[in-house]
Amino acid sequence: MSAAPPITATLPEPRADWALFLDFDGTLVEIAERPDQVVVPARLRPLLGALTEALGGAVAIISGRHLDGLDALLGSTRPALAGLHGLERRSRDGRIHRPPDHGDQLDGLRKAMHAFARQHPGAIVEDKGSALALHYRSDPALEHAARALIEHHCESLGDAFRLQSGKQVLEVGPAGHDKGTVIEAFMTEAPFQGRTPVCLGDDVTDEDAFAAINRLGGHAIRVGTDRPTAAGYELASVNEAYQWLNRLARQLQPRH
Ligand SMILES: [Mg+2]
Repeated sequence: MSAAPPITATLPEPRADWALFLDFDGTLVEIAERPDQVVVPARLRPLLGALTEALGGAVAIISGRHLDGLDALLGSTRPALAGLHGLERRSRDGRIHRPPDHGDQLDGLRKAMHAFARQHPGAIVEDKGSALALHYRSDPALEHAARALIEHHCESLGDAFRLQSGKQVLEVGPAGHDKGTVIEAFMTEAPFQGRTPVCLGDDVTDEDAFAAINRLGGHAIRVGTDRPTAAGYELASVNEAYQWLNRLARQLQPRH
């Protein structure tokens, strides 16, 4: 476990040899009441295009959503992607990396989550196939009951699955994959290899990424200021993240 560096007020000076890893919800888009209600700002696609050009393609989105959902939201930009908190990954060259799907082992929990959501209108089940998320953003008081239900089922699922907590969401998915392992995988291949990794993220699941970034000698930047972090830098909001990323893209833009 790498020690958390103290938060530094001044962000690192942008460099053309960076590899950029960006969380999606809460970092590039404001978190919505339901994941399917998220609004992608018009400024996102041009920003991703400019960053990709400035960094030789070494830009990846690292999200808890699945790859297809991310593609639908990102349109034709097609950056390198990691979905389901690192479980699935698309390399820059388009190759998909995905372990065998054991989502059927979650059927008992799946039924229990749907029954819970019928009983509690503030709860929403997001079925990602190989992972299941229970959101309670509309009714945060449901956390205790939701956690008890999931922990009960996790006992019978054994070590092959793990429970992850996020912002008003609890998620169960295969163990052994997280946002840190997926960054390490990207860093072994082009165009990421040999670059300095830089990661922006807002949630608890991004801490795995920040720990990996610290091990790799990169820069971890937390978006938002509401919890302890292993990141060495912070940006206060999604808006500040856009301002900083835009400045980075402008500063590093190759001269034509
Ligand atoms: Mg996030």
